Amino acid sequence: MKITRRGFIQTAGAATAVGMVGVPFIAKGAGKKVVVVGGGTGGATAAKYIRLADPSLDVTLIEPNKEYYTCYLSNEVLSGDRSLASIRFGYDGLRKHGVKVVHDMATGIDANARKVMTAGGQSFGYDRCVVAPGIDFRWDTIEGYDANVANKIPHAWKAGDQTQTLRSQLTSMKDGGTVVITAPPNPFRCPPGPYERASQIAMYLQREKPKSKVIILDAKPKFSKQGLFTAAWTKLYGFGTDKAIIEWRGQQEEAGVVAVDAGSRTATTAFGDEIKADVLNVIPAQQAGKIAHAAGLTNDKGWCPIDLGTFESKMHAGIHVIGDASVATGMPKSGYSANSQAKVCAAAVVAMLNGQEPGTPSYINTCYSIAGKDYAFSVAAVYRLAEDRSKITAVSAGLTPGDASPEQLAREVAYAYSWYENITSDIFM
Ligand SMILES: Cc1cc2nc3c(=O)[nH]c(=O)nc-3n(C[C@H](O)[C@H](O)[C@H](O)COP(=O)(O)OP(=O)(O)OC[C@H]3O[C@@H](n4cnc5c(N)ncnc54)[C@H](O)[C@@H]3O)c2cc1C
Repeated sequence: MKITRRGFIQTAGAATAVGMVGVPFIAKGAGKKVVVVGGGTGGATAAKYIRLADPSLDVTLIEPNKEYYTCYLSNEVLSGDRSLASIRFGYDGLRKHGVKVVHDMATGIDANARKVMTAGGQSFGYDRCVVAPGIDFRWDTIEGYDANVANKIPHAWKAGDQTQTLRSQLTSMKDGGTVVITAPPNPFRCPPGPYERASQIAMYLQREKPKSKVIILDAKPKFSKQGLFTAAWTKLYGFGTDKAIIEWRGQQEEAGVVAVDAGSRTATTAFGDEIKADVLNVIPAQQAGKIAHAAGLTNDKGWCPIDLGTFESKMHAGIHVIGDASVATGMPKSGYSANSQAKVCAAAVVAMLNGQEPGTPSYINTCYSIAGKDYAFSVAAVYRLAEDRSKITAVSAGLTPGDASPEQLAREVAYAYSWYENITSDIFM
């Protein structure tokens, strides 16, 4: 499919318009209760948009943390180009929309009695529940690596303290040190994320510790936006030469790091190679957040199957799952996907509570990767539900061209920052 940027923008505009018209503004559901579990990108967007579409609904958001750190742009914290405080958001904006925010951890969902239980001993009844817990790690996949070890050998795949730990380790590392990033098997949160991280760390090393390097130990034979990343690494970081700051070690078949020795910071691959690091960043295999498992919402692969038009769980009626935890076949696990799915889900929840048929949705995603100073690229798509509802299909898509000019690549950085301002306002304000 060859699509021009102009065509893409036209389709994206149409998609937004369809989304707006599809939100029913009526109040047959007055007083009905919606409980949203998880106040990250997906959950916070859903809570806000349900209230915007029907202010007569009673919406409670359950989230343990008083502050949310976005993973998007957290790789810039690692290079020192951005502060941790600049990616932090609170929940007062949601409260202004009439969302009742409860800081507690959901521990179970009784789908028959329609209530959510919390660690704090509270119980919240619902007419519809939206679950958006993000990801959890599969701690059973790497010998020697678990939640405790992660305090010393960070994953930094949930932003916040982990981001700060990894940043501190990078700044304390000697010049001439080796940073090892282990990239996870599919499917996982943010497919281009590990490679953007390697780029941001390489930029920092080039600037401050030029004798150092980054090695990516990948569980996969190929990765997202590979051509654009390797072109950037070749241009910026000597990729492929003996002076390379970034080295990528992909596998012939899907097989990642199988063991980690925290004491010596050594990672062992499935093929028996042992790589010693000065800073070791292990990004483990992933699955849906813990509450999704406790509530019986997951399949045998650990993710949540859903109806792609409404995001209602295929395991339990009355519960919707959005964001990284869901099996949204056809869309990547990204923040923009979670935000878009949340709006589709919000419209469906409001329609269902008001006795209406949910509409036929469209969805959108754009993902920017900042590979160096004045150097970024993106992939963007507008999607529709396939007629048989089995998948979400791109009806328009675009990728930064391989021969983009330096001006275009610099402009993509400005677009990435602008996207960040827009999406975080859309979610939290
Ligand atoms: C390094 C990195 C870079 C990224 N860059 C981009 C990017 O440039 N663009 C992009 O679109 N995406 C990006 N992403 C991906 C994006 O961050 C995720 O896809 C997105 O956050 C998913 O949203 P979510 O709502 O599913 O999960 P989250 O945003 O993780 O939210 C889950 C929330 O649920 C809460 N929670 C969990 N369990 C419970 C419970 N039992 N009870 C109550 N609350 C609970 C958590 O505290 C959390 O606040 C990046 C990710 C990483 C790691």
